[in-house]
Amino acid sequence: KEDAEYLVSLVRSVPGFPKEGIIFRDFMPVIADPRGLQILIAAIAETLPVAPEQFDAVAGLESRGFLFGPILAAQLGKGFIAVRKAGKLPPETIGESYDLEYGTASVEIETSAVAHGERVLIVDDLIATGGTAKAAADLIEKAGGKVAGFSFVMRLNGLDGIDKLGDVPVTSLISMP
Ligand code: 5GP
Repeated sequence: KEDAEYLVSLVRSVPGFPKEGIIFRDFMPVIADPRGLQILIAAIAETLPVAPEQFDAVAGLESRGFLFGPILAAQLGKGFIAVRKAGKLPPETIGESYDLEYGTASVEIETSAVAHGERVLIVDDLIATGGTAKAAADLIEKAGGKVAGFSFVMRLNGLDGIDKLGDVPVTSLISMP
């Protein structure tokens, strides 16, 4: 409980970023803090949506999912799959696009990044509308994998992000207004 409160206290709220009316929840201070980083990794590992035996790899979403996903994967004895923003990887890649408030975005992985039937835990710092996480899940499945669950550090209240992810188990450490 004390640890949970400490984690929440490290999240920095930035009103008006990236645009007016939005409060950006910045979790970089969690990573920067020695105790915060240890609590973060331990808490995610203790609140996994499925047992570690039920997945084979951890997939992190660019960019902040890259900061703790590999640490978690190493601790659990798994490998790490980088789900990238479009245009960062050399061919061959497969992609999945999704709608933003204005326009679309895509996520990509290397064609060989996911083994056939590989069970994947998807991690990211925050789920808002769920569009990014859903696209990543569709991409993992398109590549021949199976999404075992999702772990988020934060979820934003009042958005139906988690509902968008279907029947797959989801956990998040912190719920933000
Ligand atoms: P969604 O697709 O669920 O609407 O947005 C989630 C994605 O946008 C995640 O990759 C997350 O890193 C980023 N994101 C959106 N809003 C915030 C925010 O307030 N704080 C942080 N740290 N990331 C955000």
